[in-house]
Amino acid sequence: AGAGAGAMSEPGAIALLGPQHGAPRCPHGPALLFVKTGQGQEEGRRFYACSACRDRKDCNFFQWEDEKVSQTRLAAREEYNRNHQPSFTHRQNVERYKNFVQLPLSKRRFCQECQQLLLPAEWQKHSDHQFLCEICTAQLKSPSQLLYPLENKKTNAQYLFADRSCQFLLNLLIDLGFRRVLCVGTPRLHELIQSKASQEEDFRVRSLLLDIDFRYSQFYTEDEFCHYNMFNHYFFGGEAAHETCRKFLYEDNGERVIMVTDPPFGGLVEALASSFKKLMAMWKETGKEGHNNKEMPMFWIFPYFFESRILDFFPSFNMMDYQVDYDNHALYKHGKTGRRQSPVRIFTNLTPSMIVLPVEEGYRFCTVCQRYVSSGNQHCEICNSCTSKDGRRWKHCVLCKKCVKPSWFHCNNCNCCALQTHSCEKTDAGCFVCGKAGHKRSACPSLSHT
Ligand code: SAH
Ligand code: ZN
Ligand code: ZN
Ligand code: ZN
Ligand code: ZN
Repeated sequence: AGAGAGAMSEPGAIALLGPQHGAPRCPHGPALLFVKTGQGQEEGRRFYACSACRDRKDCNFFQWEDEKVSQTRLAAREEYNRNHQPSFTHRQNVERYKNFVQLPLSKRRFCQECQQLLLPAEWQKHSDHQFLCEICTAQLKSPSQLLYPLENKKTNAQYLFADRSCQFLLNLLIDLGFRRVLCVGTPRLHELIQSKASQEEDFRVRSLLLDIDFRYSQFYTEDEFCHYNMFNHYFFGGEAAHETCRKFLYEDNGERVIMVTDPPFGGLVEALASSFKKLMAMWKETGKEGHNNKEMPMFWIFPYFFESRILDFFPSFNMMDYQVDYDNHALYKHGKTGRRQSPVRIFTNLTPSMIVLPVEEGYRFCTVCQRYVSSGNQHCEICNSCTSKDGRRWKHCVLCKKCVKPSWFHCNNCNCCALQTHSCEKTDAGCFVCGKAGHKRSACPSLSHT
């Protein structure tokens, strides 16, 4: 026993049932309910596992749904959860920052091992750690450069925007008239906004960062950063932090605010969607006239191959062709020599024609589709749409009645297009949860959606 959600990567082994009322808690807030779906004795058995960590090394919380947990164990668990909170509170970190900036440059140290700003009284304790000296204001204003990215694939997967993508996003938001940006897992965008706001007098955009990476609490006040888990919509700072977020959304009657999120790509789309719906609902409560049928504007940055999953939950969304680039992701950045294609896109509920993509980077406007598309994305007369998802030119298959990847060929055996090297008659495995054909796991009738 004790599969943990780590087994999510084995397809068909485990499915998410979603957040439940009264779920047990790990240090990362309420656990999520999963079900074992593979073959074997424990098939169909439900269990709780950590929402945030898909690597058991990071959090090994596990509990069968029907397990009886003794009072002693409950008490021990609460104690464990308390002990696994950060050593300083956000409030304390804000105080520490105030003291830190009072120090002369020669006394400003940052411990690289503990990822922490040090006050002189603490130097001794960190004496055999690596540290950086003379931390200047510019460094304090770009914490995403100072902190090392948590690249642990399964849990944090911190992939930072390349400068040009970050600038593009901000300029786009400004051109669209937004004044407030709720940055959910986008520390670099937040940082760009914060530093412009402090440097340029006529810069009017403000932002609030929600992120699980508590290291950021060393650099931002409680009005600028909330420690937040986007897989279970959990505010670590409790009601006060919740209120900070609500207030931010409420300002200006909820007008001119947009949420921009760039979650880790490791799956759990339904958990993310459920949290984002709660943030949207929070915004909706704001408008005095009630925003009627409007949705809070949102950019969800995610790989294109998740398109159908995202549209399952947000039918009003469209995928934009813009390729989002990253600094520390070898695959997802444009090299100097030749352009590597990034699979990461912007999904949005804004009208596609409003999203202007840079012509100098090869995007063009398709008047039929009324949106900007990649230069390689040819308008297909038969589909009546610019059909490419990956930026390459796709080709139309008359038998499949749709456009397919350039590397695919129609297979008469399988009666669909596939790679020439595919193995024929690989039966459709059907739904992850119940195994039946005809629906995906997100629509499985055996799941109770909460
Ligand atoms: N491209 C963005 C960073 C995206 S990486 C930028 O440059 O600003 C994913 C981000 O989500 C990281 O900041 C990471 O700390 C955060 N994150 C990972 N898991 C999270 C969780 N469970 N809840 C909230 N934020 C999370
Ligand atoms: Zn956990
Ligand atoms: Zn078109
Ligand atoms: Zn076509
Ligand atoms: Zn075909």
